[in-house]
Amino acid sequence: MSVTVRFAPSPTGYIHIGNARTALFNWLFALKNGGRFVLRFDDTDAARSKQEYADQIEKDLHWLGVLPDVIVHQSARFATYDAAVEKLKQAGLLYPCWETSEELERRRKIRLSRRLPPVYGREALKLTDEQKAAYEAEGRKPHWRFLLPNFESDPFVTRRTEVHWDDVVRGPQTVDLASMSDPVLVREDGTYLYTLPSVVDDIELGITHVIRGDDHVTNTGAQIAIFEALGAVAPAFGHHNLLTTSSGEGLSKRTGALSILSLAQEGVEPMAVASLAVLIGTAESVSAVPTMSELAARFEPAATSKSAAKFDPAEVQALNRTLIHNMPFEEARQRLVALGIDGSDAETFWMVVRGNLERLADAAQWWSIVREGPLVRQQFNAEDLAFLTTAFENLPAEPWDTTTWKAWTDALKELTGRKGKSLFMPLRLALTGREQGPELADLLPLLGREGTLARRP
Ligand code: GLU
Repeated sequence: MSVTVRFAPSPTGYIHIGNARTALFNWLFALKNGGRFVLRFDDTDAARSKQEYADQIEKDLHWLGVLPDVIVHQSARFATYDAAVEKLKQAGLLYPCWETSEELERRRKIRLSRRLPPVYGREALKLTDEQKAAYEAEGRKPHWRFLLPNFESDPFVTRRTEVHWDDVVRGPQTVDLASMSDPVLVREDGTYLYTLPSVVDDIELGITHVIRGDDHVTNTGAQIAIFEALGAVAPAFGHHNLLTTSSGEGLSKRTGALSILSLAQEGVEPMAVASLAVLIGTAESVSAVPTMSELAARFEPAATSKSAAKFDPAEVQALNRTLIHNMPFEEARQRLVALGIDGSDAETFWMVVRGNLERLADAAQWWSIVREGPLVRQQFNAEDLAFLTTAFENLPAEPWDTTTWKAWTDALKELTGRKGKSLFMPLRLALTGREQGPELADLLPLLGREGTLARRP
């Protein structure tokens, strides 16, 4: 069976690292199985969905390295959902209800006080034609519920009805349909809740594996029943744990917390985000994985923990540093060229500075320091100035290599009696204008004798 997965965000905000986890679980699953990846926008809620968000989600996925084979919008597919509604109505599996939310709440409390499960009691099924006509005459519109198959012949006498599936992530799962209310599929105003369109699309698009957050486990019980009611075989399901911040808070699209867009704008490497999004909360240790194919090799959905995965946003930065500090020149080359870092020195330069970068783009400042000198002119006290005068007067002769620094500073120790920080720091400041940076032994050959002399204060 060829594999088709889907990632189904509602375009109501920017996707965050938790959404990226869902997208990547699907993407890596497809990658490992030679499958297809569908991006489905769940935009049936016209008031909250925005094209701008859909566009950004596409860009964010592209940035992460997730490239959909197909993109669909639920807002363009209402006719298909209407047909499914007709089918369910014909089969007597979708019934109209007129309760207000206050009424439902009141009944819920009564059931709880009677120690009954707080599920919908299907009172609407008892309405006579006259009562229904009276509601219609008042201009009230019904919402529509799906009749769960959790009874033998009398819908008011439910019985334990287990739905089982072998979850790709969580292993064998059981949901009891008698513990749930009949789900509302269509609202009073005729708009669709998520439940039905998702099933209809999963059928029509030939989705073989639905991989999503574990907040959908209960939905899956109801949705499997809907698949069957529509005459389809349900796909396989996988429910991964959700990400929370260190304090246990969930992430929300609406707050923009840790959005993929903001991470990209900060200059974080996509694979730093992907590594964390995929490996956190699994049996694998979290480390910086440089390519998607290596990440796929480490991706084992069944090894995902069942409890929420707490993560510290600072981890993204640490992974990012590791990726940059180990990035081969060939991989960085084009991006360096775009920063104006080009020419015969570019490779040596990259190998010398990469270990000091927070972001790849920071290489531009170091390029300028190496080529032009310190970004800000340094002020030295009289003593340091005297020391530097001696230092620059005693620069070793060319040719220069990585041993030049030691030869120079050994000679300066002898000449001036300085050692340690008082020896190195004025030199570092004079050469780079910064207190920290690449090894001066590596940097010196890049500056060359002439370039070094030009930095004499
Ligand atoms: N739009 C739904 C969500 O974001 C999709 C859930 C699913 O993958 O079925 O939660």
